Amino acid sequence: MAAATARLSFFTRAPERPVELDEFERLGLLRLRVLCAHSAWVKGGSERELRQEVEALDAFQELFGADGEQAVDTISHYALRLAFCKYVTAARNAMRSMCMASLTDRPCCIATWCGDCVVDRTRDLIEWVVAMETKLFALRVHKLQPHKVMEILAHEGIEYEAAPSGSRHEAWAVHPPPASSSGSSPTVKSESLVYKVPFHEAARLIKRRRVLLKKGICFVPAHSMHVVAEHHFRVSLEQQLKILQRALPANTEVSHSFDRLEPILDRFIAQSRLQMGGGDPFSQRRRTEQSQITAENIDAMAEKHFPLCMRNLHRKFRENHHLKYDGRIQYHRFLKGVGWSVQNTLLFFRNEFTRVMPIVKFDKEHAYSIRHSYGLEGGRVDYTPASCQELIVRGSAPRKGQYHGCPFRHWDAAQLTAELQGRSGLSSANALEIATRAASGDCQGACQQHFDASHPRMYAQAAHQYSSLNSHGRREQHRLAGVVRVSHPNAWVDASLQQQGR
Ligand code: SF4
Repeated sequence: MAAATARLSFFTRAPERPVELDEFERLGLLRLRVLCAHSAWVKGGSERELRQEVEALDAFQELFGADGEQAVDTISHYALRLAFCKYVTAARNAMRSMCMASLTDRPCCIATWCGDCVVDRTRDLIEWVVAMETKLFALRVHKLQPHKVMEILAHEGIEYEAAPSGSRHEAWAVHPPPASSSGSSPTVKSESLVYKVPFHEAARLIKRRRVLLKKGICFVPAHSMHVVAEHHFRVSLEQQLKILQRALPANTEVSHSFDRLEPILDRFIAQSRLQMGGGDPFSQRRRTEQSQITAENIDAMAEKHFPLCMRNLHRKFRENHHLKYDGRIQYHRFLKGVGWSVQNTLLFFRNEFTRVMPIVKFDKEHAYSIRHSYGLEGGRVDYTPASCQELIVRGSAPRKGQYHGCPFRHWDAAQLTAELQGRSGLSSANALEIATRAASGDCQGACQQHFDASHPRMYAQAAHQYSSLNSHGRREQHRLAGVVRVSHPNAWVDASLQQQGR
């Protein structure tokens, strides 16, 4: 796969070529999609898998592929930079005015506390942008030859003294250079140098114990200098965003053209929330509003509104009055995400399990794990339901008598086609197309196609509508819907319930 990593910069120079608003919006959305793919990557997945997944995105290829221009990279970055900084600045200003107004009739400590909450939340947003941009930079710089990395650093005015040749073998002993394709050590002179880097600029290498450290100086081999470049990128971006946030209020007052950008910038923020679901979207505590699914109607609702993974778990639970460990965890956390309280979930599980076991056994062996998922036992962590990535990539495949996981990943084509044609009621052509897509490895794409084929409206539109109504209280344009993708079983349910009565 051609994924160009050249033309990297720290974005210290703003784009110089004129850009039309449509292109500005399109490029910003493409970059947002790449950043969200990084963000959605489940912890525990390997860096190699992340690279493969991100590089396979159309958005990545369009922005950074072999034909991508440097200007496209810069414009797309500045589009998001402007959107997030403007949003954060506006939120802080609004809160400041509110606090000032409230000082007259409320205790000062309450106004200050409200202000601190907003500052914390907006800081999180900026940290997210910095973290995801740094990950993207890391992914791209990692592919460069060491001399290219040194060129980027030199271009940003950062240079390091080369260590005496006697230290090289010592440094290489700590972190040997990668073998070349011929299996030999690097032969190009500049690639075999070792640089003296202050320890705080190579903290990640120290953390991984992959660098020689002497008196506060790291001896970093050329092949590890990309880690140092990442550090400088992060620091530089943090500083640039701070400067932009300070500059923005004045700019918005004087620039008329900025008004035309506002709807586009707002759309970037709305889209980022939609894609990321607000950080912890399916925590039961935040979702008490959703109680359309009850113990009385769950059988019908599961057939109509659950994705195949949860539909299958529910059926097997009813059939066997039991689920093995992975299935139990997957299902009760999903119900938590649907909005069920711990009492409802306990009662539902107890009613089913006690058909095949005494109530004492259930209370002793299974109630704890449900309370644990709700953060009421053990480390009191408020667990969120598993995302598609967790079920598809991290989760173990179900063995005999187990029903967890993702059917689009873990079922064979015959079983999947039979289900889609049979109980899901799709045409044979549709079922075959979906099963083929799943077999090609695009499980979430296949699942989304299943949704599209079984609902009056496409998943992208329904998910966008749900997010618009719930997060912002107003309807957004559907033109952005094309970038939404199935990423969570609970999001599938939300999108499906959103179409009730249509
Ligand atoms: Fe469930 Fe996600 Fe698989 Fe769909 S893609 S069946 S929602 S795990």
